[in-house]
Amino acid sequence: MNKKQDLLAMTIDELELIMDTIGEKTYRAKQLFSWLHKGVLSFDQMTNIPKSTREKLSRNFYITHLKELKQLNSRDGLTTKYLYLLPDDNIIECVVMEYSYGTTLCLSTQVGCKMGCSFCASTKAGLIRDLTAGEMLAQVLYVNKALLEKEKKAIRGLVLMGSGEPLDNYNNTLKFLQLVHDPQGLNIGYRNITLSTCGLVPEIRALAEEGLSINLAVSLHAPNDSIRGKIMRVGRAYRIKDIIDACSFYFKKTGRRITFEYAMINKINDKLDHAKELANLLKGFPCHVNIIPLNQVKESELKRSNNESVQAFIKILEEKGVQVTRRREMGADVDGACGQLRSTFIAEKQK
Ligand code: SAH
Repeated sequence: MNKKQDLLAMTIDELELIMDTIGEKTYRAKQLFSWLHKGVLSFDQMTNIPKSTREKLSRNFYITHLKELKQLNSRDGLTTKYLYLLPDDNIIECVVMEYSYGTTLCLSTQVGCKMGCSFCASTKAGLIRDLTAGEMLAQVLYVNKALLEKEKKAIRGLVLMGSGEPLDNYNNTLKFLQLVHDPQGLNIGYRNITLSTCGLVPEIRALAEEGLSINLAVSLHAPNDSIRGKIMRVGRAYRIKDIIDACSFYFKKTGRRITFEYAMINKINDKLDHAKELANLLKGFPCHVNIIPLNQVKESELKRSNNESVQAFIKILEEKGVQVTRRREMGADVDGACGQLRSTFIAEKQK
């Protein structure tokens, strides 16, 4: 691996320190930051920075480059999945979704994942490594460039729902959030960012303490610990009660309602009693439930619930006064679910 540091992972303050250390004027830091965050990732094009400065920078630092391996467009034209090669030959994926309220990018925070949820394709080969803040930012910058080439609007919102568990890569994820939010960079509002977690209680509490107004989504997927523990290994480490307490703390600190994600799995968590149990659990809590009919992946035996069960489940939640939405299933024809495209690609290469 490259021993040099990645400039893309640096805040303006850090770049100022670097400029100072290499004997350059600190205002150059803002110029550099501005180029980087516009997606200019080659020193040669940073024309307002003297060549000698650029040479010094390139000797001591690098800028993360991604190589686009594949781009898959859904038939409706609203979802595009990108597969990128990292400098160390690892592969990551991210998905762009065009909503009426703006373009949103779903990005990855780790290569693989160690959380072991039984329905998820990303975790089957375990965690390979954390992504750096620069590698997370690079996904946004590269996709923005691709959108620009198609004369489409730039990314306005982010969901940290690609491969990986963002709170298991806490420091890099937090740094990334700070970078994309910077008004001198992409200036993406915290309210337009959603972080999804499988429910790491201490990290949810730590994130709450940061006081950022980002949206928190928690992958609940079960109305009780017994079912949760069977489909999510992390469900054996943290109890639902403690997750809800942590979410309550998050709401108190940030004022943001929590989203609970619930993937409906045939005969596992989709019965009417489960809906009642879930409604009792969440009644009165400042949240909304996002129902996702399971995206069947070849890595798992679990099946998606049928449409009638999904509708009946939603009806019970509604009747009991729990806010609920059914996730629009975008991009199913481009291996929409988490980690599927990457694993399909790797499997094809190994044939
Ligand atoms: N690690 C984080 C974010 C990544 S996954 C988390 O667990 O929340 C993003 C969401 O997709 C999570 O809610 C996850 O449980 C869900 N998911 C993963 N595989 C899925 C599948 N096959 N079908 C439906 N949802 C899935």
